[in-house]
Amino acid sequence: MADFDLAVIGGGLNGVSIARDAAGRGLRVLLLEKGDLGSGASATASPLIQCDLRVLERGRFGEARRALVERDAWFRAAPHQVRPVRVVVPMDSPLRPIWLWRLGLAVHDRLSADRARPRSEAVDLTHHRLGDPLKRPFGLAFAYGAGFADSPRLTVLTAMDAARRGATIVTGARCIRADRSDIWRIVAVRRGQREIYSARALVNAAGGWLGTVAETVLRLKPPRIRLVLASQIAVRRMFDHDSAYLLQQGDGRLVQVVPLDGKVTLIGSVARPFTGDPAHAAVPAADALWLTRAANRYFREQLEPTDVIHSLAGVHVFDASSARTASRGEGVVRLERTFGEAPLLTSFGGDTTTARRQAETAMAALAPFFAMPGPWTAQAALPGGDVALGDVGGLVDGLQARWPFLTRETVRRLVSSYGTLSETILEGARSRDDLGPDFGEGLSGREVDYLMAKEWARFADDVLWRRSSLGLTMTEGRREALAVFMTTHHASAEARPLQ
Ligand SMILES: Cc1cc2nc3c(=O)[nH]c(=O)nc-3n(C[C@H](O)[C@H](O)[C@H](O)COP(=O)(O)OP(=O)(O)OC[C@H]3O[C@@H](n4cnc5c(N)ncnc54)[C@H](O)[C@@H]3O)c2cc1C
Repeated sequence: MADFDLAVIGGGLNGVSIARDAAGRGLRVLLLEKGDLGSGASATASPLIQCDLRVLERGRFGEARRALVERDAWFRAAPHQVRPVRVVVPMDSPLRPIWLWRLGLAVHDRLSADRARPRSEAVDLTHHRLGDPLKRPFGLAFAYGAGFADSPRLTVLTAMDAARRGATIVTGARCIRADRSDIWRIVAVRRGQREIYSARALVNAAGGWLGTVAETVLRLKPPRIRLVLASQIAVRRMFDHDSAYLLQQGDGRLVQVVPLDGKVTLIGSVARPFTGDPAHAAVPAADALWLTRAANRYFREQLEPTDVIHSLAGVHVFDASSARTASRGEGVVRLERTFGEAPLLTSFGGDTTTARRQAETAMAALAPFFAMPGPWTAQAALPGGDVALGDVGGLVDGLQARWPFLTRETVRRLVSSYGTLSETILEGARSRDDLGPDFGEGLSGREVDYLMAKEWARFADDVLWRRSSLGLTMTEGRREALAVFMTTHHASAEARPLQ
């Protein structure tokens, strides 16, 4: 008998979503991630949870409707982490006339499942603070509703839920070989040690490494995929409100400008073909320059390449056999089975918004192999997302009253990351000293302990870039102090599933 029903290679959002769905249906699940959870493309996905407007533009209304349903599912699953955001589109391009935007957003609103969500609206930028940071010629804009979330954070929350439902999540474990018979025999290397597992079915969710895993680990013909490098840049805060902008460029491309955590603004993305190892992906100087110019066409504050404080490069996967090249589509799930041999499922593409649904499609493909119940994730909360009546502001107020020595900013950050689980971190603390070392930005030793014990954090970067976005603002000295704390304070960084 195999150790597991299902083994998943890859701890990006696609892999953890499948692990969560399968574990919730009672399957014995193993997930192997070579580095940290969400450290591949999922670390670099845009923070906007939304229907890609280019999908609407191409008349793919079913797909647009499904994306809007998924946007609302994220609001329900993680109200602490996914907050509503308004996206403002200044009217500028002769490529897309005003009537087209008006019509498109009317359809967007009609397709939206949750009637309680704010409708899209026209904004007179000359008399609205949303127009303040923009150059004068921009008079009219349309604004529509999206969600804002940190994609690596959603990846970790999804993995936690999978673990809570019984999945075994192993990070720092590179799968080097998988042999197929009526079961899969899987070899992984973890901290220099070989580990062997067996599973009845295998999922390749290795993102940009998908082809390499197919060829070198599974020794099969790789799927027909195309790799694309998507680049984003971060600069100091460009405006003092929390709406985002979608900027039309002369060639039809759209660039998002999104405020992060009140201190930093993210601008992206621009894409180009990629070959090689995604681990070495970096933002080309030409792309950083193009992004600053894209913003400069609209904003009064003019950016120089030297204003870039951080850049994000992600290698994403396209289906090369699909004609849908201009937008990502809904992702690909392929099942391969040969009589007498264990099944192999490959899942890639899609986006943060639709990852839950893509996992459901994967489970539907695997249904003939397992006796298991039907879909369940559409209504289920992620860890910390069980906020009473979705009242996140009330949760912040409650925590602030119980732990008055914390700054409002810290309480807000804790609630946005951990929701109702914030109490687990703060429990018993009567003063700031009870929370251990202070790494700045409200990050305490107690919080780092929690991340190492419950969220698979092993290194400072795991905490600074994938459990939070504190890496954007934390000083070099504090980062070093955090790294020293994490290596010396903990002999072992094993994560245990939440009880
Ligand atoms: C051009 C483009 C732009 C995109 N932009 C966006 C966007 O703005 N917003 C958005 O939501 N989505 C975007 N996407 C989609 C996004 O890439 C994916 O939806 C999302 O990041 C899920 O990625 P993943 O889990 O498939 O891959 P990844 O996040 O890359 O995860 C794969 C994981 O597999 C692991 N792995 C690899 N090999 C092994 C091995 N041998 N053993 C163990 N583990 C291994 C890696 O370490 C990695 O963590 C874009 C896609 C494209 C094509």
